[in-house]
Amino acid sequence: MIYVGRITKLTAREVLDSRGNPTVEAELHTDDGIFKAMVPSGASTGSHEAVELRDNDPSRYHGKGVLGVVKTIRTTLSDLVMGMDPVEQLEIDRKMISLDGTDNKSKLGANAILAVSMAVTRAGAASQRLPLYRYIAKLAGVDNFVMPVPCFNVINGGIHAGNKLAPQEFMLVPTGARNIHEAVRMGSEVYHTLKDEITKKYGKRDTNVGDEGGFAPNIGDADECLSLLTKSIDASGYSGKIRIGIDPAASEFYVNGRYDLNFKDPVLKGKSLKTGDEMIEMYRNFVDSYDIAFIEDPFAEDDWDNFSKITSAMGKGIEIIGDDLLVTNLKRIDEATKRNAVNGLLLKMNQVGSISETIEACRKAQGNKWGVLVSHRSGETDDSFIADLAVGLRAGHIKSGAPCRSERLAKYNQLMRIEEELENRCSYAGSNFRNP
Ligand code: PEP
Ligand code: MG
Repeated sequence: MIYVGRITKLTAREVLDSRGNPTVEAELHTDDGIFKAMVPSGASTGSHEAVELRDNDPSRYHGKGVLGVVKTIRTTLSDLVMGMDPVEQLEIDRKMISLDGTDNKSKLGANAILAVSMAVTRAGAASQRLPLYRYIAKLAGVDNFVMPVPCFNVINGGIHAGNKLAPQEFMLVPTGARNIHEAVRMGSEVYHTLKDEITKKYGKRDTNVGDEGGFAPNIGDADECLSLLTKSIDASGYSGKIRIGIDPAASEFYVNGRYDLNFKDPVLKGKSLKTGDEMIEMYRNFVDSYDIAFIEDPFAEDDWDNFSKITSAMGKGIEIIGDDLLVTNLKRIDEATKRNAVNGLLLKMNQVGSISETIEACRKAQGNKWGVLVSHRSGETDDSFIADLAVGLRAGHIKSGAPCRSERLAKYNQLMRIEEELENRCSYAGSNFRNP
């Protein structure tokens, strides 16, 4: 017999994220208990993302307060979902989306809708006496479990760090691990070896970290970062077992049709911009010289032609992932399919703003035989929801920053708990991360 636990109360509060900015926590009460969820917040946000509403009241938190969103949840959304059964995820999400009535959730706020949607998923899982990942798998029609490859962002640049480095993320991708536990150990060991390498070469000050816990050395050159990473992987004894992922987050340095890799260097800024073809040549050199598994957002969010070019030229060998390009949006996924613009989807819940739509976007990408990389945001909380999401959706890989800082580790630690619970009833995506 399935136990039915109705929603008896919905409330919310303002809490702080990992950058010290306000974000929203929803709290849902049902007959089964109390279920909370916090939403993350991006910095290099795509302009086509669902809208994160803030108060814009300069007298509080530099305008970043979310009291308006808290009020929406406590009043409008509370009235909407009261008495409903939390297992009706699709119905509850649909009601919120239709009440909002806009294309980008700009009326109620994607942060309001998502916080409630996540709390509903947690309550639905409890109502069915299932762990969250199993319940998400049920919602998504997934019936066996593959643990995702954790992609550790160990060098931070772009707008996530105060160094000169233009590309935003350099990730360790431990495809040669046997399981999550081993992958986490590899990530942590290489992280510490990398710290030693950076200290030796540049000094201790360059081991300060960026928003996602990765080191932010004042290196201007991506090639040098890739060489440092490779050296640290080799020195840790993991040659051939850890590949490298890059997220240039190129929308941030797109200037009038070209790309400025010196956009953070006050002296060199604007002096030597690259064309799309020159960027492809640079990426080609990276792939020829290093063991690159994927490149995310190699081009800016509306530079469809260059995305299509690089996917045709390099998509057989490596994964080309769309983040700002796709914004977890079904219409943009369709457009990318038509244009053969990517072969991988970055999946961020708050880019689309509800759990049902997140699942739909993932299923669509998987239907295309694309890889799916579940992602945190640069502004995070200790909510580990995306770890369960990645397992439940059989996503193949997940990125949650460095193996350092508790808001990043909340996700990796939860993956280890899930693996422990599943014992030998799961496999590890490993080298099949694109098609687990
Ligand atoms: C990203 O670009 O993939 C990312 C996680 O950064 P942000 O959350 O700032 O968009
Ligand atoms: Mg990105």
